[in-house]
Amino acid sequence: MQFSDFSFNKSILKAVAEERFQTPSLVQQEAIPLILEKKNVIVSAQTGTGKTAAFALPIIQLLFDGQDAEKGEKKIKSLIITPTRELAIQILENFKSFSKYSNLRASAVFGGVSLEPQKEILSKGIDILIATPGRLIDLHTQGNIDLSAIEIFVLDEADLMLDMGFINDIKKIERFCPKQKQTLLFSATMPEKIVELAKKVIKSPVVVEI
Ligand code: AMP
Repeated sequence: MQFSDFSFNKSILKAVAEERFQTPSLVQQEAIPLILEKKNVIVSAQTGTGKTAAFALPIIQLLFDGQDAEKGEKKIKSLIITPTRELAIQILENFKSFSKYSNLRASAVFGGVSLEPQKEILSKGIDILIATPGRLIDLHTQGNIDLSAIEIFVLDEADLMLDMGFINDIKKIERFCPKQKQTLLFSATMPEKIVELAKKVIKSPVVVEI
C-alpha cells in the first residue's frame, strides 16, 4: 500500500514524500480511510506507531475539501487536545510539515508560557488548533477562542489525559464545540474509564485496534 492509494491531493502527497515516508504504517492504513469517510473513530495505538500522521493527514485533506465553500472564513475548524506541551509542539510540527503546500494555518496553545502571544495568533484566525486542556479553557473563558465552527475534534493520548486528571476539562471542552462534529479518540490503552468517556463524547464510533 502507498500514500497515493488514499484520496489525498497532490500538495499533501508532495509533503509526505518530502518526509521520506515510504509506506503508510498499520494505524495509518486502518484509520485514514475511516477518517476521510467522516466516521467517528476510536483508535488504540501507542506513540511511535505513526498515529499523529494518521489523524493529521486526513484532517488536512478534509479541511482542504471544505475550503472552497467557506470563502475565507477564519474560524477554527479542527481542535486537537493533547496532555502536554511537548506533545502539542510535536503535533503542530506534523501539521505544519504536511500542510506546507496549502494555505491552512495551524497553531498550538499550552500552559507555562505567557498568554499574550497565543491571544495574538488566535485573533488573526487559524484553521487548526492544538491545545492542552487547561490553557484552552483559560483562553476560552477569557473570550479568545471561538469553537463554534469545529468540524473535527481530536482527543490524543486520552488515557494519559485521564491519568493527569483532565476528565472534567475534556467534557467541558467537548461542550464548547458544536454537537454535530466528527470526533476521533486516540489512546495507548483502553481501560474502562476511556470506554465510559468515549460513550459520553462520541456517537457510534468505529474502533481500530493496532
Ligand atoms: P508518532 O507515532 O505519530 O509519534 O510517529 C512516530 C514517528 O514515525 C515520527 O517520527 C514520524 O515522523 C514517523 N512516521 C510516521 N508515519 C510514518 C511512515 N508512514 N513512514 C515512516 N515514518 C513514519
